[in-house]
Amino acid sequence: MNVLLIAEYEGDALRIASVAAVGMANDVAQTTGGTCDVLLLGADASAAAEDAARYAPVLVAEHADLSPATADCHAAVIAEWVNAKGYDVVVGAATTYGKDTLGRAAGLLGGYMASDVVGHDILDGELLLKRPMFAGSVNATVKLLGGPRVVTVRSSAYDAPTANESASPITTVEVTPQPARLNVNGVASKTGGRPDVTEAAVVVSGGRAWKTSEDFENNVGKLADTVGGAAGSSRVLVDAGITPNELQVGQTGKIVAPDLYLALGISGAVQHLAGMKNSKVIAAINSDKDAPIFQVADFGLVGDVYKLTPQLIEKLAGTCAGV
Ligand SMILES: Cc1cc2nc3c(=O)[nH]c(=O)nc-3n(C[C@H](O)[C@H](O)[C@H](O)COP(=O)(O)OP(=O)(O)OC[C@H]3O[C@@H](n4cnc5c(N)ncnc54)[C@H](O)[C@@H]3O)c2cc1C
Repeated sequence: MNVLLIAEYEGDALRIASVAAVGMANDVAQTTGGTCDVLLLGADASAAAEDAARYAPVLVAEHADLSPATADCHAAVIAEWVNAKGYDVVVGAATTYGKDTLGRAAGLLGGYMASDVVGHDILDGELLLKRPMFAGSVNATVKLLGGPRVVTVRSSAYDAPTANESASPITTVEVTPQPARLNVNGVASKTGGRPDVTEAAVVVSGGRAWKTSEDFENNVGKLADTVGGAAGSSRVLVDAGITPNELQVGQTGKIVAPDLYLALGISGAVQHLAGMKNSKVIAAINSDKDAPIFQVADFGLVGDVYKLTPQLIEKLAGTCAGV
């Protein structure tokens, strides 16, 4: 099968989620005797070409109208390129961009899509895709009955592939984006410089126990900074306006699988667990010894997060920044 990987990048490097997706895309191509190309879209797409070429041949579609990225504009370009070149499979990471853009591209390409894929197999030449359903309670194995097949990959489910010793070719391709139906007036970078929850080795998350944004920042945020990790949040804090949307972990938030997930005052509702239960180590602090989070936690502490979090910050300060 010939596979096209839609890569996301930041500056001159692929995003971690896209590197994991390249691993899946390369495996499908190699197992079926096909090819895998990485497509970079954007006004400055060539900046990340060298990094992408460590994994597979790169196609650079550089055009001023492709930045800032809008899903409808990018999806149309992807669909046109896939139709022109006859790719069998289109792969992207199951990120905010990937979910939005590849879903639209799949619609333009006939609708054969599997999202949030956590595993795959080739059986009798068919691509079988494993994906969670019902907030991760079951994994379904699905086969797309037509093509081109469009797949988004949950990056935490795939290890990053080893880069090739020699770089693959980089080719510039001409694309003609249609005007987007959305005007982006500006793009602001995140303040604070913390990593995204999907890309950090340590995620410190807070739940309803935290009463104000200030309390959250002075405790959850500060502990995240102390260990060089990301700050995350349960949905109730997002709904209450205490934390911003991009921090939400869970079924309707981001899916994470860090080396360490620290849950501070989070009950462990099934919708939250769906986003973090595959973390390598889970530690939780909760005042309720019967909180469901303790059923999935490797380490648990029963107590008040307002008392214990400052103590943790004090103990860890200077010992593990940059973990
Ligand atoms: C369709 C749908 C999708 C959803 N998607 C998501 C999602 O993506 N992510 C998500 O998180 N939720 C999601 N939810 C909401 C989810 O069901 C829960 O309501 C939510 O996860 C609960 O958040 P919480 O654990 O912070 O709050 P609670 O369930 O209220 O738990 C608060 C916990 O804090 C403890 N606590 C309180 N005070 C202290 C203290 N001082 N010290 C220590 N512990 C303390 C309590 O004992 C309790 O266990 C979704 C719900 C639905 C219906």
